Amino acid sequence: MIDVYLGLGSNLASPLQQLLRCVDVLRAEQDLQVVAISPFYGSTAIGPGAQPDYVNGAAHIRTALSPTDLLQLLQRVEQSQGRERGPERWLPRTLDLDILLYGNQVIDQPHLHIPHPRMCERNFVLLPLFDLAPDLVLPDGTALRTLAERCSHDGLWRLNTAAQ
Ligand code: AMP
Repeated sequence: MIDVYLGLGSNLASPLQQLLRCVDVLRAEQDLQVVAISPFYGSTAIGPGAQPDYVNGAAHIRTALSPTDLLQLLQRVEQSQGRERGPERWLPRTLDLDILLYGNQVIDQPHLHIPHPRMCERNFVLLPLFDLAPDLVLPDGTALRTLAERCSHDGLWRLNTAAQ
């Protein structure tokens, strides 16, 4: 079983409910085990035009699925919650599930990059992940603590609701 960290996000159709539902769906999956869910955060959307705020969090799971099979499972979960995919990035979404870390592996495939390429620049990824795993070290040897302590808290606020 590999320890995997996921990024969770939503900014459409009751984002908090979307994340809570997604956690329930992940917990019901036979092919993975949910170890812990971070506190949730609100965040200002980045991307084109005005968009609703996001709710973000992170999940620690364990799985024997390959990275590709895990990505497919996560995309099925996204679709089951009404995620629509188009050619444009950064659009509002009911559910966005990213594989942030898959054990200590570095994966560069056309459709899968792990560690997630933008995780180190995003406070809404780093801070929930840091809540979950403060002693985590990235495959390149960078301590998550160093990244989390350096990153700004602009546009990010902690919510009182967490997954049970
Ligand atoms: P997004 O619009 O952010 O959901 O990006 C979706 C696309 O990113 C998917 O089609 C994946 O193939 C690709 N992708 C690349 N690396 C990752 C990753 N680590 N986790 C999730 N999706 C990824």
